[in-house]
Parts: sequence; C-alpha cells; structure tokens
Amino acid sequence: MELEDRVKQIQQEAQEAILAATDLQTLEDLRVKYLGRNSILRQEYSRIGSLPEEDRPLAGQVLSKLSNALQKLCEGRKSALLQQAEQQKLQAQALDVTLPGRIPRAGHQHPLLATLDEMVEIFLGLGFIVAEGPEVEDYYHSFEALNYPEYHPAMDEQDTFYVSDDVLLRSQTSTVQIRYMETHEPPVQIIVPGRCYRRDTVDATHGHTFNQLEGLLVDEGVTFADLKGTLEIFAREVFGDRCHVRFRPDFFPFTEPSAEIALTCTLCDGQGCRVCSGTGYLEVGGSGQVDPNVLAGVGYDTEKYTGFAFGVGIERFAMLRHSIADLRLFYSGDMRFLEQF
Ligand SMILES: [Zn+2]
Repeated sequence: MELEDRVKQIQQEAQEAILAATDLQTLEDLRVKYLGRNSILRQEYSRIGSLPEEDRPLAGQVLSKLSNALQKLCEGRKSALLQQAEQQKLQAQALDVTLPGRIPRAGHQHPLLATLDEMVEIFLGLGFIVAEGPEVEDYYHSFEALNYPEYHPAMDEQDTFYVSDDVLLRSQTSTVQIRYMETHEPPVQIIVPGRCYRRDTVDATHGHTFNQLEGLLVDEGVTFADLKGTLEIFAREVFGDRCHVRFRPDFFPFTEPSAEIALTCTLCDGQGCRVCSGTGYLEVGGSGQVDPNVLAGVGYDTEKYTGFAFGVGIERFAMLRHSIADLRLFYSGDMRFLEQF
C-alpha cells in the first residue's frame, strides 16, 4: 500500500478511536499508540529511509501533517473530556436556591426541670437558699447520720443501689442536710433539689431514678406550725388557692413527729379518681420536725435549736401540675409528649 493510503487509513482509525474515548486514560493509551515512541507513526517514519531519495521530503511532510493532526485531535478530545467532567461535578454540587430551608427544631425546657425551677423559685422567695451534694454517697451520710436504726429495711440491697459496701447512690436528698449542717452553724434555711435512686419497680407512679426537692429549716423556736405554713404557702403558689395540703402521721427515722404530705388531686379536683385511688389526694412527700438525734449528731445545741424538714417528689408535682397520670411519659423521650409543654 502506498504511503498516502496508509496515512489516510491511520488517520481515519485514529480519529474514530480518539473521538470515541470517554475517559482520560483511554485517550492517553491512544496517544501512546499513535504518537508515542513505538507508535504506528514512528514505524512509518522509520520506513522513510528505504524510499527513493526524491520521495523522502514529501513522505516526511505527509507524516508530520498526520502527526500534527493527531496531536490536535488528542488535545481537543482531552479538553472536551475535562470540560465534561467539570460540568458533571458542578451539576452534582448544584444547589436549588428555591428550595425552602430546613427549619431547625427549637428545643425547650423539659417539663420536669421547668417544674423544679418553679418550685425552687417559690422557696427562694420564702428566704431559702439552694444547697447541693453528691449523688454518690457514703453509708454514714445516707443512713447513720439520719438516725436510721441499724437494720432499717431502706438500707437493704433490695431498696438501695450499692456501689460498694460503704458507697451507694443516694436514695434521698436528705443526705445533703447532714453535709450542710456539718459545715454551717444555725440558722439554716436550705432547699436541696436533686436526683435520687431507688431499686423500685417502675410503674405509673414510681421510677428507679427520680428527682426530689428537700427543705430544711433550723433555728430557735421552729415548730410544726411553721412547717405546715411553709408547705401550704408553697402548694397554693404552685396550684392555686383551691389546693389543699393534707398531713397524716407517718414515720421517718430523721424526723419526729413525721407527716406524709398529700395535695388535692388535680386530675379529679379532689373528687376521687383512679390515679388518687378515690381519695381525692395524691401523696407528694414526707415531712416532720427534725429529730433531735440528727441535730445532736452534727453538733447543734438541741436545747436551743429545733427545725423542720420536708422532701417532695418533683415527678409527682409535675404530674399534678400537668394532670398526667403516668410519670414514665416524662422519661420516654417521646417528642409528641414533650412538645406539648
Ligand atoms: Zn384524683
């Protein structure tokens, strides 16, 4: 075959292949095949020497024209491929500025915390200050200093989460009473909000983890009437004038006398319902005059000082406040529930 025919054929083949290349690697392979060191074109160049002398210049021109043409084709295809890639990238990153934006969900205070804050606020108004203490406590501050007899059932592993023989998760915020009195002289007027733990079976009105608000007032001449007055003012502040506080004799090792605190059931307005077992009242905590043994234990003069203490469950208050019959809802994390507050 004559040189010109071969050149035509090479050009035809190369052009088809180059224009059909869909990626840069294929294109590079084609460039090497047609223009590289051992390429088809090089083979043609090496044949020039065997041509008659007068034909050589023309053959050289034809081959160099082919070489230029193929180079141009490769470059053109390369920039087309690069442009295409760039366009695809841009398309993938494309932003539709007409789409509505995502509206971030605004959080708000959990109903339990909101209830706690409201309760704390009322006591601050009555002259109490907030005291805090550790949730992981020792045996002494949990039971011994609170006048528990040696074999009280509350100390049992059935009721309390023990970390070790002497260390436990506090089952009431009363532990902070002791810690505070150990380091402060009377008069004492504190509230202690905080989390507590008990080995309770979880049901509609009990949880293994719950929040308490403890109050302690120690001064000269403090009586049970002061306790009643304080809690009545507090209950009316939270639930309004229709709310009634009911005190019934109870027993706690660290108070004497002791009283259970119950408030008018808000679910039935005191008429009696399933939640209050038909009594019209819901128990919210315990209270009493501080046992002189407890005061003596922290070195207070029991001839001079008396005091009262109370502890109420935050969950119970939140249930009453929002007329909720099952406290497990507060811990469910269910947004449909939480969004209502
Ligand atoms: Zn009721």
